[in-house]
Amino acid sequence: MSAQKFEKRRAKVIRQFRQHEVDGLLVTNEKNVSYLTGFSGEDSYLLLNKKQAVLLSDSRFTTQIEEECPDLKTCIRGPRQNMSGMISQLVNQSETSNLAIESSSMTVQALEGLKSVLKNTHLKPVSEMVENIRLIKDREEISKIKEAVVQAERGFESMKASLIGTDTELQVAHQLEHWMRRFGASGNSFSPIIAVGERSALPHARPTYGLISGSGFLLVDWGADHESGYKSDLTRMIVTGKVSSKLEKVYRLVLKANEKAIQAVRAGVRCCDVDSVARKIIENGGYGKKFGHGLGHGLGLDVHEGPRVGPTSETVLEPGMIITIEPGIYLPGWGGVRIEDDILVTKEGYEVLSSIPKGWDTVRIGI
Ligand code: ZN
Ligand code: ZN
Repeated sequence: MSAQKFEKRRAKVIRQFRQHEVDGLLVTNEKNVSYLTGFSGEDSYLLLNKKQAVLLSDSRFTTQIEEECPDLKTCIRGPRQNMSGMISQLVNQSETSNLAIESSSMTVQALEGLKSVLKNTHLKPVSEMVENIRLIKDREEISKIKEAVVQAERGFESMKASLIGTDTELQVAHQLEHWMRRFGASGNSFSPIIAVGERSALPHARPTYGLISGSGFLLVDWGADHESGYKSDLTRMIVTGKVSSKLEKVYRLVLKANEKAIQAVRAGVRCCDVDSVARKIIENGGYGKKFGHGLGHGLGLDVHEGPRVGPTSETVLEPGMIITIEPGIYLPGWGGVRIEDDILVTKEGYEVLSSIPKGWDTVRIGI
């Protein structure tokens, strides 16, 4: 990606300074640093003011910085220097009197350290200053997320084709990661949820040594981490045993909620209104109290990012946002069903990025 692209992103952050009454921002969130510079390493901050952007890092990353963002001004910390010392030097030089700090990523310890050295600068906690911009994905970001979806889907199809009845949830999780890596992913975008039968009623179940053929069906919630850092996040059900009428009923209801909510996605619509499409369908089906989470979330460098797609989220969808739509019904002691797709909001409406079939007739496999 070109240096100008990052400069433009930083300019969008700087334009928000006035509204927050600050003249600088210390970016401590790793993903935000990466989004604004192209640098993909850790433990590094970006100090941004109207005059300059400086990446603060240490000698482990010197070469990586030269490769990833050669045009960016950099301060490399020496072995005797600490981060707050380096920040204070730069802040004092740039005469920043009101410095915004990212309240969701800066630790109390780091804040105390900064306060002790920055006597003449007011530190102002802010949130979402960079996340606001990350909401809208550009063409390159969209194509990377699409690739992450393809990696996840190819991994899933290969895993599914090689399933055997004696596999455990943990083995399936391992297989899934293995296959996604074979198709180019750098790993999981989060620890996959492989939950058989009753365990699928836990929306965030951890894989166990339980057999996947143990209860007749399983829920798989997984995603790929693209080498660029962009993520995908999907959920599908796999039916391995005898089909019960209850499972079919619950599945068809969740599927309807998923499909209708997707059809409601378009620029100009509030997230809560998309949520309500799915929620009403599940409520009318008699399972309203069993859909305890929001309908979805934004997807990008983080697997969970803005916008939140829930009953109280008034965010208006805009072209370039990528969100998940993942209604679910969870019945403790029996199991749960969730179906999750990744959706790009477009000018005309939406584009479903995920393509694994989800019709009731496609979920059953023989193992
Ligand atoms: Zn998911
Ligand atoms: Zn999700």
